[in-house]
Amino acid sequence: MPELPEVETVRAGLAPALTNATITAVDVLDVRSLKRHPGGPKDFAQTLIGSKVLGVVRRGKFLWLPLEVKGEKRSLALVGHLGMSGQMLLRRPTDPEDKLTRVVIHLITTKGKPMEFRFIDQRIFGSLAIDELQPTADGKPGGYSAGVGKGKSWQNQIPMQAAHITRDPLDVDFDEDFVLAKFQKKNSGIKRVLLDQQTLSGIGNIYADEALWRAKLHYDQPAASLKPAKAKELLAHVRDILAKAVSEGGTSFDEQYKNVNGESGYFAVSLNAYGMTGLPCARCGRPIKRENWMNRGSHFCPNCQKLKA
Ligand SMILES: [Zn+2]
Repeated sequence: MPELPEVETVRAGLAPALTNATITAVDVLDVRSLKRHPGGPKDFAQTLIGSKVLGVVRRGKFLWLPLEVKGEKRSLALVGHLGMSGQMLLRRPTDPEDKLTRVVIHLITTKGKPMEFRFIDQRIFGSLAIDELQPTADGKPGGYSAGVGKGKSWQNQIPMQAAHITRDPLDVDFDEDFVLAKFQKKNSGIKRVLLDQQTLSGIGNIYADEALWRAKLHYDQPAASLKPAKAKELLAHVRDILAKAVSEGGTSFDEQYKNVNGESGYFAVSLNAYGMTGLPCARCGRPIKRENWMNRGSHFCPNCQKLKA
């Protein structure tokens, strides 16, 4: 399932191509991919055709494209969720069809070059939708966008669908004290807290297992039992791992995740815990174990990551 590094890789790939491009046509091949768009496929296409893409922004695993829509007073954005298996590919109109394409958005760049944004999704947990942007609660930028500049109306806005998501650890406005205070109040296991998108966003199973391995913490260690120094150390590992994974184009563990050119990321070779069941721990040599956890698995070293009383 795509986490922050995979979504950021997609964002960084889309931004240079799509910023300032104009949408010329929309093909909805499977309406199930519009399940989060309340107006249906006709409204989706009508709103997009003729609109200009102003940028590509991300917070956590949420991606959105602020739009300039003619005759529209509200501030709107195209919001994309990759879900479990979503891919956003940039193609030329002459490129062969991609299997499992659900939606195609045709665009023309400022230089007059035609281009296709193809939304591919095997399991249809992902979606595209048009959503209204609203001011952020703290008045700061809604998310990460390398193209953000002053005077852009959409900079300090966030889609209503994403407004409840807290900032991610790579966000310059990430509030570490807020997250540490939340840890103190939670008796649930630390992994569960790391995955709670209302505590901090962007982290899923892969990067949680990796950060806990580095911090030598058991996944079920109650968050509130972490000493402040340990909690800070864990967040530092989280940031390091996410940044490294972004620099390597994300993790394509199950071959579902691809960048905008359809290529895999390389972070899988850097994994120490996730998916390493039975292999020796890089620190102590004992085998990594996988335990069932919340309908998924937790990978950890039973020797380095003991549950502490
Ligand atoms: Zn170990």
